[in-house]
Amino acid sequence: MARIVMKFGGTSVADVPRIKAVAERVKREVDQGHEVAVVVSAMAGTTNQLVAWTNEAARLHDAREYDVVVASGEQVTVGLLAIALQELGVSARSWLGWQIPVRTDGVNGKARIEAIDCGEMIRRFGQKQVAVVAGFQGVGPDGRVTTLGRGGSDTSAVALAAALEADRCDIFTDVDGVYTTDPRIVAKARKLDKITYEEMLEMASQGAKVLQTRSVELAMKHRVRVQVLSSFEDKPGTLVTDEDEIVEKEMVSGIAYSRDEAKITLVRVPDRPGVAAAIFGPLADAAVNVDMIVQNVSSGPEQTTDLTFTVGRADLARAVKLLTDQRQKLGYADLISDATVVKVSVIGVGMRSHAGVAQRMFRALAEKGINIQVISTSEIKVSVLISEEYTELALRALHTAYGLDAA
Ligand code: ADP
Ligand code: ASP
Ligand code: MG
Repeated sequence: MARIVMKFGGTSVADVPRIKAVAERVKREVDQGHEVAVVVSAMAGTTNQLVAWTNEAARLHDAREYDVVVASGEQVTVGLLAIALQELGVSARSWLGWQIPVRTDGVNGKARIEAIDCGEMIRRFGQKQVAVVAGFQGVGPDGRVTTLGRGGSDTSAVALAAALEADRCDIFTDVDGVYTTDPRIVAKARKLDKITYEEMLEMASQGAKVLQTRSVELAMKHRVRVQVLSSFEDKPGTLVTDEDEIVEKEMVSGIAYSRDEAKITLVRVPDRPGVAAAIFGPLADAAVNVDMIVQNVSSGPEQTTDLTFTVGRADLARAVKLLTDQRQKLGYADLISDATVVKVSVIGVGMRSHAGVAQRMFRALAEKGINIQVISTSEIKVSVLISEEYTELALRALHTAYGLDAA
C-alpha cells in the first residue's frame, strides 16, 4: 500500500465527462489499496474568466477580494469530483484550503504555503476515504482566503505530498510529460524520461508552465518524487529526480521561453556611484521584479550611460510611472519601453562541463537573422531577450542547434 497525491489541471477537469474520467482514474489507485489525496484545479478557462471579472470591476482592486473571487473555481471542481467518486462507490470528501487548513502567509495573490495540517485527512485515510483537495488556495494569518499565484495547484499538490510524506506526487496534465521544449510550439520536441530538480526548476522559472516554479522548489527541498503524466492517455510520463539518477548529462536538456517580459531602457543616465541603487531601489520597494540588466560603458565627456533591464509585463505600466515620476531626480534623458519581447533560455546541468553553449546559441540565432537585445547567464542557463515575433523561429532553430530534435 502506498500513499499518493494525484493532481489534475484545468483541461483534465474541463467538464463533467472529464471529471468522471478523473474519478475512474482515481478509483484505480483506490482499488489497489492506496491512500489517495487528489488535488484539482478549476475547470479550464475558469480562472482567466474570474481574473477578468475582478479587473472589470476595478482596475486597481483589493487583493483580498481578488483571492475570494479567483479561489472560487476550485470549489466547484472539488465538489463535482467528490460527487463523481461517490457515484462510483468510492468514499470521498472535498476540502477547501481553509478547512484543512493550508496555512499561508498573508501575501494575497501570490501567497506561500507555511504549513498544512493533515491530521484529519490521515485519520480518514484509515476509513478508506479519498480526500479531494482544492488546489491554488489557502488561508492567511488573518483567516482570509489566499491564492498561490497562477498555476498554483501544482504547488498545493507537492506541498500536500510533503506534508503527508506521500510516496509520490503525480501531476496529470494535458501533455504526457516534460519535453525538451513546449511541444505545442516545436513539433520535434522530445519527451524526457527524467529531468533533474535543478533543471526543472530553471525550466519552470524561465517560463515552462508545465509545473509552477514554487512546486519544483518544494519538491527539491522535501525530496518529493514528482511525475508529470497525461490525464488522457495511459503511458509513462517524466520523473523529476536527483542528478545522480541521471547518467547521461546532455549539454542542453531543455529550452524555455517566457512572453511575460517587458524591456525598459533609460537613456543617458548620469554615470556615478549610487545611480543603480536609486533606480532599482524604488522598483524593489514597489514589488516590481527586475530580471535581466545591461549597462553600457560611459562614452563621451558627459559621463552618461544607457541602462536596459526587464520587468514582468504586468508590472510595466507601474514601473514606467514610477521611473517617470522620478525623472528629475534620476537625471536620465529619455525612457523607452517595449512589451513586444520574449525571453528564450537554454538550460542544462551539462553546461558546467561543456564549453561553447552560449556561442552555439548566438550563432543559431544569427543564422536566422534574429537580433539579441539582452543576454544573461547562470551556471546552468543562458537567456536572451529577442523580439516576440521570432519566438517560434528561435525555439525551433535552437532545438535543432543543440541536437534535441526527435528522430
Ligand atoms: P494544467 O492546467 O494541467 O496545470 P498547464 O497549462 O499549466 O496545465 O501546463 C501544461 C502546458 O505546459 C502544456 O500544455 C504545454 O503547452 C506547456 N509547456 C511549456 N513548456 C513545456 C515543456 N517543456 N514540456 C511540456 N509542456 C510544456
Ligand atoms: N486555477 C489556477 C490557475 O488557473 C491554478 C492552477 O490551475 O494551477 O492559475
Ligand atoms: Mg498548470
